[in-house]
Amino acid sequence: MPSTAHHTFRLCDLPPELQAAVLDHVGALSQADLHTAARTCRGWNERLTPSLYASLEIHKANRRAVFAGLGLDFLSAPELESRVGEAGSEHAPSSNGASAYAAPEPPRKLAALAHAKRISLRDATAALALAEALLTYPALSGALDELALSSSLFRSLVSTGMAAFGRPRSGAAFLGETLVARLRPKVLRIEYPPPRATLSASIFDPVMLARVLAVLVSEWRPERVDFIGVGTDMPPVLGQLTRVFCLPCSAKKRNERVWGDNAGCSAHGGLVRWHLRRLFGPGAHEDLIEAIDEGADPTDEGDIHPDAVPCAAGARIEYWNVPCLAALDREVFLSDTFKSWPPECDIEGRIAFFP
Ligand SMILES: [Zn+2]
Repeated sequence: MPSTAHHTFRLCDLPPELQAAVLDHVGALSQADLHTAARTCRGWNERLTPSLYASLEIHKANRRAVFAGLGLDFLSAPELESRVGEAGSEHAPSSNGASAYAAPEPPRKLAALAHAKRISLRDATAALALAEALLTYPALSGALDELALSSSLFRSLVSTGMAAFGRPRSGAAFLGETLVARLRPKVLRIEYPPPRATLSASIFDPVMLARVLAVLVSEWRPERVDFIGVGTDMPPVLGQLTRVFCLPCSAKKRNERVWGDNAGCSAHGGLVRWHLRRLFGPGAHEDLIEAIDEGADPTDEGDIHPDAVPCAAGARIEYWNVPCLAALDREVFLSDTFKSWPPECDIEGRIAFFP
């Protein structure tokens, strides 16, 4: 573009109806172009704000920009918990005390953030900033189309935080509880950390993983849960529809001696079979409840109630990135899988494999 000409014409000088015609096409703009366009003039900024904020990716480096103007202090989890506790002891307990220290006049940024439909939390720092915003401005709470938890955040929720429902409380537990209480995503996207060098080595404590997932699924009741990059530690708790995106097939020759002919690659054959039996096999739900109970603190009456633990019976599960299993005769694979472990519920049409 000739540099002499580009500043002589400004789109916001057009008549409003022509601007509107142009703006109808903003759906096709990239996020970067949207930002540029929003800086053109105030009218455009207002018009583009919903698109700009529809999908928010929050991480440590941009959290101050995302929540600029809200007067947040970016507290640590223990600081945030004790502030809410102090506010709550002096004011109405029903509000969790948080609104007690909110600014009297709602900032404009609040209206912009209310357009968020999809939020991706890239780290625990970002989650903490969101928790502080939610506690300060309860109006931000509510339904989301999608909430994505990065692998580092999910790892920290499992290892330190949310599973502490029923364990000695920590600041991280408070972070998890706040997110659970104040958001309601239709789709939950959970990214897994990369697996350990040996495929069979677990990343998560199985009890803690079960507890965290039981809380997320039973409290949020998401329409769909996507697990991304699963190599080990198959999810023990299912959403209504669960999609497990596995790591790629193992290049190693299939281990036919162990898993038989109709069994997929060495990465997926055994793992998926084991998972299906753990979900649907004899005593599957009782075993899950027992595992969850193992991590409970008997003195905590607010711990996960066994009746609230989501049951795989009635759920649907899809395994993706498994060309080795998708190529098999599904009925034969499933009847082999459950030959000695007959499912306790009807699994007809509820298990699927995709390349
Ligand atoms: Zn495979």
